[in-house]
Amino acid sequence: MSQSGEKGKFPEAAGYVGFANLPNQVHRKSVKKGFEFTLMVVGESGLGKSTLINSLFLTDLYPERYIPGAAEKIERTVQIEASTVEIEERGVKLRLTVVDTPGYGDAINSQDCFKTIIQYIDNQFERYLHDESGLNRRHIIDNRVHCCFYFISPFGHGLKPLDVEFMKAIHSKVNIVPVIAKADTLTLRERDRLKRRILDEINEHGIRIYQLPDADSDEDEEFKEQTRVLKASIPFAVIGSNQLIEVKGKKIRGRLYPWGVVEVENPEHNDFLKLRTMLVTHMQDLQEVTQDLHYENFRSERLKRAGSNLSLQTQPHINELQP
Ligand code: GDP
Repeated sequence: MSQSGEKGKFPEAAGYVGFANLPNQVHRKSVKKGFEFTLMVVGESGLGKSTLINSLFLTDLYPERYIPGAAEKIERTVQIEASTVEIEERGVKLRLTVVDTPGYGDAINSQDCFKTIIQYIDNQFERYLHDESGLNRRHIIDNRVHCCFYFISPFGHGLKPLDVEFMKAIHSKVNIVPVIAKADTLTLRERDRLKRRILDEINEHGIRIYQLPDADSDEDEEFKEQTRVLKASIPFAVIGSNQLIEVKGKKIRGRLYPWGVVEVENPEHNDFLKLRTMLVTHMQDLQEVTQDLHYENFRSERLKRAGSNLSLQTQPHINELQP
């Protein structure tokens, strides 16, 4: 009897547990906490990586960047530069870290540049593993690399040996999204041909790139169509620009040529918007694949290694017991 007043608080209808509200709770919690996302960009210098990142997030992530000359580049080894920005839109916070890898492909010995990048990815996994087994597990900052945009030159006829080697070296550690840089330098036919060629080579070499999940059958038609278009656009052929140009009275981001303006945010001109949509609508999936696949790979390898070290340590002891 006294329970009737509680009805609103505790749903007690038969067969109703009350978990229908869970997705909202998860949503509310992540909105409050904010999303943490780390994007790595890799590709030879001068392919337009910083320009694209600034265009993607509408912020100047590298205001004081120093650009080295060609002679200096030969000497250089790859560096890792992580910049974090907090972006807020309609009350949703995103703590975005962009990890740039200046110097990639500049050095004569390519293996060196791989090592630094792989080490960085592994270090973030290691840190997460350490924090996860620590006391303060509830407030772990997730710095693991959730996605890697790999920039491919528009001037070659497909993938270079360096592209193949690098993607194969990292495909079991991070979600790779291949991107053709400076797409404004290609005609439509050249662009289509290059895309097909790159996809063929990715398959031939057994490179595993990030697979967009299929839309569920109960999603609306618009979302299904969006997923279809995004899947068909890989590798995304993009254009970046830090310049605002006035076109028909409106300021737009674009590149001005003697014959006209190439608009960054025009889907007919390039795949920039598709790339951004892919990143934003699949951010959670990229995080989940990082957790369930790449981090689990790392963790099980790490445990295996720890196990074999332990057995190595105990080996002399066993030997000592033998007559
Ligand atoms: P990063 O070394 O890969 O970070 O390259 P930057 O972003 O510094 O760009 C190198 C040069 O390429 C700059 O002069 C940019 O203005 C230019 N650039 C950047 N994006 C594009 C693009 O989409 N198309 C063309 N044609 N040039 C671009």
